[in-house]
Amino acid sequence: MTRTIEELIPDYLRGLPVYVPGKPIEEVERELKIHAVKLASNENPLGPSPKAMAAARAVLGDSNRYPDGGTHALRQTLAERRGVSPEEIFVGLGSSEIIDLAARVLLRAGLQGLTSKGTYAPFSVAIRASGAELVLVPQREFAFDLEAMAKAITPKTGVIYLANPNNPTGSAFGREEFGEFVASVPDGVLVALDEAYIHYAVSMGLGDSAEAYRKRKNLLILRTFSKVYGLAGLRIGYAIGRPELLAAMNKLKTPFNTSGVAQAAALAALDDTEHVTRCIETNATERKRLSEGLAKLGFRPVPSEANFVFIVVGPDAQALSDDLLQRGVIVRPLGWMGFPEALRISVGTAEENDKCLAAMAQVLNGKDRDTLKRAPTQLKKGELAAR
Ligand code: PLP
Repeated sequence: MTRTIEELIPDYLRGLPVYVPGKPIEEVERELKIHAVKLASNENPLGPSPKAMAAARAVLGDSNRYPDGGTHALRQTLAERRGVSPEEIFVGLGSSEIIDLAARVLLRAGLQGLTSKGTYAPFSVAIRASGAELVLVPQREFAFDLEAMAKAITPKTGVIYLANPNNPTGSAFGREEFGEFVASVPDGVLVALDEAYIHYAVSMGLGDSAEAYRKRKNLLILRTFSKVYGLAGLRIGYAIGRPELLAAMNKLKTPFNTSGVAQAAALAALDDTEHVTRCIETNATERKRLSEGLAKLGFRPVPSEANFVFIVVGPDAQALSDDLLQRGVIVRPLGWMGFPEALRISVGTAEENDKCLAAMAQVLNGKDRDTLKRAPTQLKKGELAAR
């Protein structure tokens, strides 16, 4: 046989983009020998819930045992809180695993997966990795254009991915708009609604999406413990969905996807309302301050309902990000997410945001131009505001 291993990799996988994670803070500090702040991965700057940490420590000693593969305690609690049955809860290795499993179960060659341009890249990856055709609908004003998405549904559409609020633009759609959209989706099409940042969208009055699920069971609602609960490193998230779909996803997941430590921490984090409230309130205050600070520097941040701020800075986005990195501030340039002229800056603590704004002002004023080894970023105040 003359076939190579590489030839076994299907064409639709060869063409997939690689997920670009934020640069690890330790690496930046080692390389540049400076103290750095990471505002690149929308993490919780206040850390995990103290109750979650205590619960995690308490079960570390059981790590010689496999965890509960059925995540019974967590599913039971989530079911009670969200008003569904435990069979309607799926616990995944972060919501990332669930995004992937939904496509693997429902999509295949000959079908279409639908999402928006300028949204969380793993949606497109999951669709393409399933062998289905990826259909991308343009955004309107940096937000999902749900009307256009409804029009893009065809008899081949199997799954639609939405993020509310959206990453990386931070925009969100309201309850009414979503209701109208869902009403226009046929029963045989799944709407995967990713609510990773929902806790931060307080001003939207979105209510509990589990209610929408109870009305229309073609919804799969995704939540994560990585953001407001501060457990990104433990990798745990969950979904609410119809039992038949979740049972199929269960067959494909790895047998022990979430660790016992992650399950215990997640369970305790749910009860730490004090920590959740503090994280939401700090984010709201600091998001406002960061957005206003950026506006003073001449940018026009997209109003954010999440824990990050999106700004269009022009063709020098990558250079600006590099310049900030040199000053110990890690932000996310968004070329890989379809916005080559934009940056996403996660909301940090007051101190971290101050450092970011000061570094940005320095770069824009060109104070350190002489110390830079390459051409300075050509950004003019008026030019930025106009974009
Ligand atoms: N969904 C969206 C919209 C996200 O932005 C992220 C992470 O940044 C995730 C899902 C991934 O979450 P998890 O850590 O639960 O895999």
